[in-house]
Amino acid sequence: MADNNIVADNMVVSMAYKLTVDGEVLDEAGELDAIEFLTGHRNIIPGLESQLAGLQVGEEKSVTVDAQGGYGVIDEKAIEDLPLDEFTDGVVPVPGMELEMKDNQGQMRFARVISVDKKSAKLDFNHPLAGKDLAFDVKIVKLREATSEELAHGHVHSPGHSH
Ligand code: ZN
Repeated sequence: MADNNIVADNMVVSMAYKLTVDGEVLDEAGELDAIEFLTGHRNIIPGLESQLAGLQVGEEKSVTVDAQGGYGVIDEKAIEDLPLDEFTDGVVPVPGMELEMKDNQGQMRFARVISVDKKSAKLDFNHPLAGKDLAFDVKIVKLREATSEELAHGHVHSPGHSH
């Protein structure tokens, strides 16, 4: 029988955390607004989840995740020049601007404008945290076994919410 007090696959984990990148706190959630996720279903970045296995309720841990286990390394091919006349809806790109663009497959992609010249803009489609080491301070707040429905869907069903 599974031990409901230790993090393992197919459990719902409530976790408080703080994410620090380059010495700056980018994101945090305390015990009252802890995030909930289903383990073993790639609901959180793999380099973090792999270091949570075996933790007990109430336990705290500092975890460093390198770019490969986090948001990936910077892909030079994801830096693209786009002719200015391909910007629609009157968008005038300026360096630093963040854009949401549809690609050829109709998928929405986020991009940051790196530079602009007379004819084109250089866009970076990498995740903003690509190439970064991520430092997490985590605390396991609660644990429970996932329901069969959650396992079938691959995500947590919070109270008052199902889909
Ligand atoms: Zn669902």
